[in-house]
Amino acid sequence: MTERLATARLQWQESIPESEQFGDIYFNRAGGVAETEHVFIQANNLVERFAAHQQGSFVIAETGFGTGLNFLCARELWLQQASEQGQLHFISCEKYPLTRDDLARALSAFPEFADGAAQLIDSYPEPVPGFFTLRLDQGRVLLTLLLGDALDTLPQLDARVDAWFLDGFAPAKNPELWNDRLFAQIARLSGPGTSCATFTAAGIVRRGLQAVGFDIRKVPGFGRKREMISGSFQGEPVRPAGQPIWFQRPEHGTIDQPVIVIGAGLAGASTARALADQGIPVRVLERHAEPACEGSGNPQGALYAKLPAKPTPHSRFHLAGLSYTAGLIRPLQHEQPEIGQLCGVLQLATTAKEQTRQQQLVDTGAYPESLVRAVSASAASELAGQDCAHPALFFPDAGWVSPPAFCRLLLDHPLIQCHYNTPVAALHQTDSGWQLIGTAFTANQVVVCCANEALRFEQLAQLPLKPIRGQTSQVDQPPGRPLNTVVCGEGYISPPLNGRYCFGASFKLRDTELDVRDEEHQHNQDILQRALPTLAESLAGQPRQGRVALRCSSADYLPLVGPVPNLPAFIETYAKLRDDARWPFDALPPLLPGLFVNTGHGSKGLISCPISAQLTAALISGAPLPLEAELVQILHPARFTIKNLIRQTL
Ligand code: SAM
Repeated sequence: MTERLATARLQWQESIPESEQFGDIYFNRAGGVAETEHVFIQANNLVERFAAHQQGSFVIAETGFGTGLNFLCARELWLQQASEQGQLHFISCEKYPLTRDDLARALSAFPEFADGAAQLIDSYPEPVPGFFTLRLDQGRVLLTLLLGDALDTLPQLDARVDAWFLDGFAPAKNPELWNDRLFAQIARLSGPGTSCATFTAAGIVRRGLQAVGFDIRKVPGFGRKREMISGSFQGEPVRPAGQPIWFQRPEHGTIDQPVIVIGAGLAGASTARALADQGIPVRVLERHAEPACEGSGNPQGALYAKLPAKPTPHSRFHLAGLSYTAGLIRPLQHEQPEIGQLCGVLQLATTAKEQTRQQQLVDTGAYPESLVRAVSASAASELAGQDCAHPALFFPDAGWVSPPAFCRLLLDHPLIQCHYNTPVAALHQTDSGWQLIGTAFTANQVVVCCANEALRFEQLAQLPLKPIRGQTSQVDQPPGRPLNTVVCGEGYISPPLNGRYCFGASFKLRDTELDVRDEEHQHNQDILQRALPTLAESLAGQPRQGRVALRCSSADYLPLVGPVPNLPAFIETYAKLRDDARWPFDALPPLLPGLFVNTGHGSKGLISCPISAQLTAALISGAPLPLEAELVQILHPARFTIKNLIRQTL
């Protein structure tokens, strides 16, 4: 995947944008909406298919997101026609995304879509390569934008598409796109019942689609266009390419009883909500009397990603997560300001080494200024409304979230039932599913979202999870100007919430005691002093409260998200990796059927839990995965086993 992305260069002909890169218009002068309805909606028979769809996701994939007009038309129809239990998952490739301002200008020509356009503009991602998922209409609609060249991004997609919108400018203007590599990907992502439609009737497109298994018809085109084509897939489904077989996703069964989620922290609450959004009933079992009592219990946490100078798979995951969570928080800011605020985050360069690193990050130009920019100490002070002792990186669209308030919001859904004071002692596999020992519950699908407590289950005891103690300090807000932004450096502090500052935190590996300690309060005070000296002094003499919790981190500091391997059988199946890492295995991975895990989020749960929850829900239901295959693999719970086999340490 490329590291940078150019945005669309546009010429405006009144309200119609034309691409300078391609020399073609985005939609028809004779009526953009009427054209979409004719070419994509009718030719894919979507009115009837949406109305008939009862539960789970209906998947549309598009080549060329452009202004999002096709998406907004499909969304509108979905909201009118489809059952509330279903979810429209619209996936769209875009090599040159419009800037947010251009998007707003283009969509202002369609007042009938004002509501959808506002939601889209609100959670529209920064122009950075990768997959970015947006949740609209309280979860009835998901949009995954694959930013980058479709020929690079589609091979990373794991989805079964119901209908294709083939809309990447005319083949004569964009010959690089319309080729056999594209058609092969379209076929790979299609199955029985998949349809396609495109505005063009060019021979190269017709023959290309026929060659990969589509039955193609020519039908009258829109407006002055004589013909266009539509078709249905008759070919053989193809196994996902380029993915090691041991990470292949499990076959999904029918979901005919509630899924059980263990844990009501950020991981559990967001997993429950992602499932409920798809119309799947969920029971959440929580050992405490309310949600978010452990690692997700601090009153505030920073929502931002520490980015490396050069993007890595690790950082691409964090950016996808940040973009997704920020998209959830942005619309809530005014109605429920106590849940979170995207007030901006300053990441101070407190050492010379960090200053050099930040300079490199800016110099590589890997991230757009709208995502992160360098600011001097005085500019940082201006933004923060407090003296900052160091220059910084500023993330204008990041901020803070109150994890307990966010968890309560996520769990508030008619399909989610929470059972508190319900500890699960063990998991017992039966002929028909899972019995949750210590409770009266059984289920076919169980998701373990209880941080370090996952290790209490024999089936998960091998996971490399480690507790890291953290103490935060809370102090009443003194008189004077409040802090305006989140400030991170060695520690973090957010603007005051309900008259109190929350800052921290200590970091004690393998210390599982939960007592509040003076020396850790002092540590928090010291790191605050080095970041915001004036504010630190005004807080110094005040009484403070402490809160201690255990983070749950994995050996490589990425969460563990996905199906749980049947470890002895898994090791036996792939034992030959010890001798030959390129052995051509053909055995599917032995997994514990219906058992999934979403844990190990460390101190990054705000960015990693909601997107990991989408991934988990998709793995359970068979919906499209919201992340690139490469990122799904680096989160896979079996990754350590595979690595250890290859290194011959297992
Ligand atoms: N569907 C769009 C809408 O509703 O506004 C209009 C799409 S416009 C006709 C074609 C889009 O395809 C452009 O945004 C263009 O940047 C994009 N595109 C062209 N080649 C591409 C490629 N190789 N990969 C991804 N997107 C591409």
